[in-house]
Amino acid sequence: MKDTILEVKNLSKAYPMRKGSFLTVLEDINLTVKEGDFLSILGPSGAGKSTLLRILAGLIEPTSGEILYFNKSFFSANPKISMVFQNFALFPWLTVLENVEVGLKALGVIGESAREKAIKVIDLVGLDGFEDAYPRELSGGMKQRVGIARALAVEPDILFMDEPFSALDILTADNLRSELSRLWLEGKLPIKSVIFVTHNIEEAVFLSDRAIILSHNPATIRAEIYINIPRIRNKNSKEFKFLVDDIYTVLTKPKKDVPFMLRKERYQFLPHAKVGAIAGLIELAHSKEEAIDISDLTSDLGLEVDDLFPLIEASVFLGFAEVKEGEIRLTEEGKKFSRSDVLEKKVLFRDMALKNIQLIKQIYQVLSTTEKKRMSEDFFIEILENHFTKDEAWNQLEIAIDWGRYAELFAYDYDTGEFYIEDVQS
Ligand code: ADP
Ligand code: MG
Repeated sequence: MKDTILEVKNLSKAYPMRKGSFLTVLEDINLTVKEGDFLSILGPSGAGKSTLLRILAGLIEPTSGEILYFNKSFFSANPKISMVFQNFALFPWLTVLENVEVGLKALGVIGESAREKAIKVIDLVGLDGFEDAYPRELSGGMKQRVGIARALAVEPDILFMDEPFSALDILTADNLRSELSRLWLEGKLPIKSVIFVTHNIEEAVFLSDRAIILSHNPATIRAEIYINIPRIRNKNSKEFKFLVDDIYTVLTKPKKDVPFMLRKERYQFLPHAKVGAIAGLIELAHSKEEAIDISDLTSDLGLEVDDLFPLIEASVFLGFAEVKEGEIRLTEEGKKFSRSDVLEKKVLFRDMALKNIQLIKQIYQVLSTTEKKRMSEDFFIEILENHFTKDEAWNQLEIAIDWGRYAELFAYDYDTGEFYIEDVQS
């Protein structure tokens, strides 16, 4: 039987916010990593993937829950772990060789034996001959090879990778993925397992043998999917596409259908989507048949999950669409919206936003009840900061400005930072 390397039980993470409130990012995460696992953690941006990975790597502490490393409490086990970051995180003043030796030094490996180990992994990642180069002399792909070599040099039990290829161009990323898959297949990597974080479904299916799919706000595990396709995988094969489709279905399932989700009343999180793009999606959906497969939609539009999900989610929140079994279907209002002219669209959007969108409703009500029909943004930020981080509070307000303006419910004065209702002659 394979050794269990890492076990996570009932892990939660909440970041403290103002006024003693908390932003729960991870909720009740349970997972096990065994020797030989290539696990991916998949979820939309902002879901909490990096937070989870950092906790698993011991870089930050969970709020509650337990992490066991070879059956011992994580913090006393002193695990061998290393991380590959999206932005490479190399020291610009060190050569390739020196960058790779950094991790070894931290473990007390120095001198000849450090050099030997470093050169071995540099060869492994295909950088033979670049030992003395500086990061600025390398392409993005080569920089990430250094990042991987540095992580491998310490021969970690688990190699952590946080969206390592998402800053690279498509061809370079594809190339590195294939190489990683091949090295893993051939057993050439001096590691026992990999935990790979990504928002890219195809990447997860290409690389990993198991994918854990996270929901967001807060992140819970929606599903665990096994990928039993022989390596090196072909993205155009039927079984590959089938699995990608399957994951889309899980990822787009409305949250209330997820049985193990603990229902709590939360402030509604507005997806980061502009009205123009939402309207575009609704119209596209209308031009197709009754229901569209979401994975077809991404390939048709050349969009990534991250681009498309906020649009889908916004359409669903507004009541213009429904998502079921990986398919998006317009509601009666959605169909009506796409058939309407510009003015009718605004009216319909206004009705739906007032009915379904908490923040829009709140801003509108506040403005309507004030004498001057004006209110400073600080007032709303104050409310939002009880539920979101500072940055996210501003994001939420910006979305509300976009939606509210389109619906002609309220406007925003960029000079004074005030929301106001425009005078209308009736
Ligand atoms: P992902 O990697 O899936 O994009 P992250 O783990 O980076 O997501 O972030 C998840 C959520 O936690 C986001 O809403 C982010 O704003 C919030 N967050 C991350 N780090 C902190 C922090 N140090 N303090 C407060 N909130 C944070
Ligand atoms: Mg991240």
